[in-house]
Amino acid sequence: MASNAYTIIDHAYDVVVVGAGGAGLRATLGMAEQGFKTACVTKVFPTRSHTVAAQGGIAASLSNMGPDSWQWHMYDTVKGSDWLGDNDAMEYLAREAPQAVYELEHYGVPFSRTEEGKIYQRPFGGHMQNYGEGPPVQRTCAAADRTGHAILHTLYGQSLRNNAEFFVEYFALDLLMSEDGACQGIIAWKLDDGTIHRFRAKMVVLATGGYGRAYFSATSAHTCTGDGNAMVARAGLPLQDMEFVQFHPTGIYGSGCLITEGARGEGGYLVNSEGERFMERYAPNAKDLASRDVVSRCMTMEIREGRGVGSKKDHIFLHLDHLDPAVLHERLPGISESAKIFAGVDLTRDPIPVLPTVHYNMGGIPTTYWGEAIDTRRGGPDATVPGLMAVGEAACASVHGANRLGSNSLIDLVVFGRAAAIRAGEIIDRESPIPEANTASEDKIMARFDRLRHADGGTPTAKVRDHMQRAMQEDAAVFRTQETLEAGCKRVSAIWEEMADVKVFDRSLIWNSDLVETLELENLMANAITTVYSAEARKESRGAHAREDFTERDDANWRKHTLSWVDDAGKVTLDYRPVHVDPLSDGIDLAKIAPKARVY
Ligand SMILES: Cc1cc2nc3c(=O)[nH]c(=O)nc-3n(C[C@H](O)[C@H](O)[C@H](O)COP(=O)(O)OP(=O)(O)OC[C@H]3O[C@@H](n4cnc5c(N)ncnc54)[C@H](O)[C@@H]3O)c2cc1C
Repeated sequence: MASNAYTIIDHAYDVVVVGAGGAGLRATLGMAEQGFKTACVTKVFPTRSHTVAAQGGIAASLSNMGPDSWQWHMYDTVKGSDWLGDNDAMEYLAREAPQAVYELEHYGVPFSRTEEGKIYQRPFGGHMQNYGEGPPVQRTCAAADRTGHAILHTLYGQSLRNNAEFFVEYFALDLLMSEDGACQGIIAWKLDDGTIHRFRAKMVVLATGGYGRAYFSATSAHTCTGDGNAMVARAGLPLQDMEFVQFHPTGIYGSGCLITEGARGEGGYLVNSEGERFMERYAPNAKDLASRDVVSRCMTMEIREGRGVGSKKDHIFLHLDHLDPAVLHERLPGISESAKIFAGVDLTRDPIPVLPTVHYNMGGIPTTYWGEAIDTRRGGPDATVPGLMAVGEAACASVHGANRLGSNSLIDLVVFGRAAAIRAGEIIDRESPIPEANTASEDKIMARFDRLRHADGGTPTAKVRDHMQRAMQEDAAVFRTQETLEAGCKRVSAIWEEMADVKVFDRSLIWNSDLVETLELENLMANAITTVYSAEARKESRGAHAREDFTERDDANWRKHTLSWVDDAGKVTLDYRPVHVDPLSDGIDLAKIAPKARVY
């Protein structure tokens, strides 16, 4: 059925931002400040975006609690990325971070304070003094353990104040693309009344977040389904570094609910069944504050070697019971509550049962450090797609490379949300008319929507989703081998075929959660399949991609970004793109950031 079967309501904006998490709101605010007529389209109410759940904090070298510098922050980010991040982007992040945090403060974020009234900063994993040679640095700015909540509410208020227009509970279906591959807007479905909306725009910014829900156990919200990544894939554009999936060391055993790394920042530590603080053995300097990929692997090794806790010996304990209850109350009130609700534990008395849990996607839509989407097929490794940007967890700039440091995502959201708006101010032609949409592209989008709405196979959406989540959890896990990854590729490809047999029970257009979940499942599948195929191809261990059959990092052959395309039939094509090694300025000592062994 073609698009003419649906009535489409037309809108025209200079800029359409898809997503109202920290990245989407910072971009929306920046675009509005540039004087652009800006729409922000979001499937959930802005302050319900996953950013609201961010606990621990936001990294910036303010030096409020001791010496620090942006060069140290950059070095830690480079090392954290296991030398897969782009140096220009990582320099931009570390250099701009302090300003971005002060800006948040001035917008109204209620940061926790030191005695003297400065912004409070706590230690976080992988953030060290003196180019990794000193002890942990206190760099992570926090509003208790509700930092994301504070940032999101502040940015939403500021966006409204600057007259950005919000389209709330609109589900973006796909990108409108011109014949010659420029983005011209999006089509969205309004969930509460069933109407279909065309948003034409000079610039679309995807800020749709990660795809944690491709896995069975994840700390991410159920809405983290990688919709923007899938829209890009369906537009024939590449995704980047999808094999790098972060497992957070401390998801609550059973529920997957997160206990922030700030808990270890405040002095918490992990123990095995022998009561041993095993991280001292693996990472003598950073101990429990080694980077996340390292700690997750160590926990997995302890469990495998029979030193897990509990009746099944399948998890680890996190102790906070030695800390002053007043500190817990002041600095970690949220997780005290989570531990009670999700593990039945009073953390002032007992340890919390924890397990590495899927938490963050380093991969996503490849961009320049200004947020412009990249498509190498348009001519060269850094060729950009006209009319399309991506920011936040959906994007891959790449500042996190093979492993993200804790508290480096919130800063990524605001630094690059702002950068995208500055760049848009330079490249959008304010005089030109807003493009008309290509009807062929629109017909294709609506045909897909209509096909899923009327899907009448034999397998309910929830069942296909369960198959996908289990395959990913088992075959693209903390440790990987050729065998598990090949099995994963076969399984996920077979599940892709299963999608043809999906059954949607509700045919209506109003509050049809069955159809929403089916659209999200198709989106997750595009993410899952590119993840497992990219992982199978990468024959080395780097950051979060730990292979038992290729245990070493191989810079000569693999210090490069993976690009992946997936076509309508589920066929994945891979290619590679060089890592940017040149920094932006001469404020960087190149010898300091050159690749070396990664020890904490
Ligand atoms: C529990 C938890 C704690 C964390 N703690 C920290 C921390 O302390 N420090 C840190 O640095 N990082 C932390 N992170 C990571 C960080 O919070 C996330 O990476 C970040 O918030 C992602 O922000 P975002 O703006 O990219 O996307 P999100 O906040 O996920 O927002 C995505 C937006 O896109 C919209 N959207 C998606 N699909 C569609 C669609 N089809 N149509 C319309 N709208 C759509 C959604 O409505 C939403 O508004 C944490 C993550 C989790 C899960």
